[in-house]
Amino acid sequence: MAASRTLTTFRLPPLPTIREIIKLFRLQAVKQLSQNFLLDLKLTDKIVRKAGNLTNAYVYEVGPGPGGITRSILNASVAELLVVEKDSRFIPGLQMLSDAAPGKLRIVHGDVLTFKVERAFPESLKRQWEDDPPNVHIIGNLPFSVSTPLIIKWLENVSQKDGPFAYGRTQMTLTFQQEVAEVDVGVVHFTPLVRPAIQQPFELVEKVVQSAFHFRRKYCHRGLGMLFPEAQRLESTEKLLQGADVDPTLRPTQLSVSHFRSLCDVYRKMCDEDPHLFAYNFREECKRTKCKSQEPEDDRESSRL
Ligand code: SAM
Repeated sequence: MAASRTLTTFRLPPLPTIREIIKLFRLQAVKQLSQNFLLDLKLTDKIVRKAGNLTNAYVYEVGPGPGGITRSILNASVAELLVVEKDSRFIPGLQMLSDAAPGKLRIVHGDVLTFKVERAFPESLKRQWEDDPPNVHIIGNLPFSVSTPLIIKWLENVSQKDGPFAYGRTQMTLTFQQEVAEVDVGVVHFTPLVRPAIQQPFELVEKVVQSAFHFRRKYCHRGLGMLFPEAQRLESTEKLLQGADVDPTLRPTQLSVSHFRSLCDVYRKMCDEDPHLFAYNFREECKRTKCKSQEPEDDRESSRL
């Protein structure tokens, strides 16, 4: 019993601080790449604790940079940590960490948007979707410009149970940074549901949500109207909102998951009745007719309908 305890407990030996690593390897943050680094190990420990118990876990860290979160993950007694970093300047510092944690840290110099994590960990970790989540976790602190397309890709992967979700309901713990020098981070922990809250194809849900947020500060009927060709816009938007029992004067940010479920269900019915509807793309119509009024609004503007 004592043996299994020593097997799972691991602490990194004393190392230069992240600040020292940044100096040593001249790792100035590149503002154009929205690079901001977490230097405080207490903060990175706190972020990693949000992931839950990582003992013997297989962890995929996206964008480790100088390695603050990486250290906290290694100190959580994981079985293996795989990091994918695009910027080659960080690889030597990460290599130093790998030397301090023999056999635990795998470094890939690559792009998280194309990296195939479904091939990276042992097959034996795979669980049925309905089972408890596998002992596979994704952790990362990325700029919005990368985390937004990545999360949309992962949500699609969740719907298809592939990519990182080929292992089952892989959990994700992601921080969202404000794009400012002194970092203010929010941490979000996701566990995929056994049954999706909205039982419609991913492309349809994405289209409805994107349209609703097209004019993010205006009443939701404005954005949702973009689902329909101009000639039938008023009538069809009314039919959608009435059918879904959604108040047209709610702002997109006031719509709940249950509102979106009803909107997607009604829109699906409308698409089934009119086979051309789902293919309709208002941007194409806009280009054809050179309209200006449907441009997404500037977010800084607090316009009203
Ligand atoms: N995780 C580190 C921390 O918390 O201090 C660094 C955070 S910094 C905001 C984002 C990191 O992600 C940088 O190291 C950057 O080079 C890396 N990165 C950005 N886009 C990436 C991509 N597409 N693939 C892999 N790494 C990426």
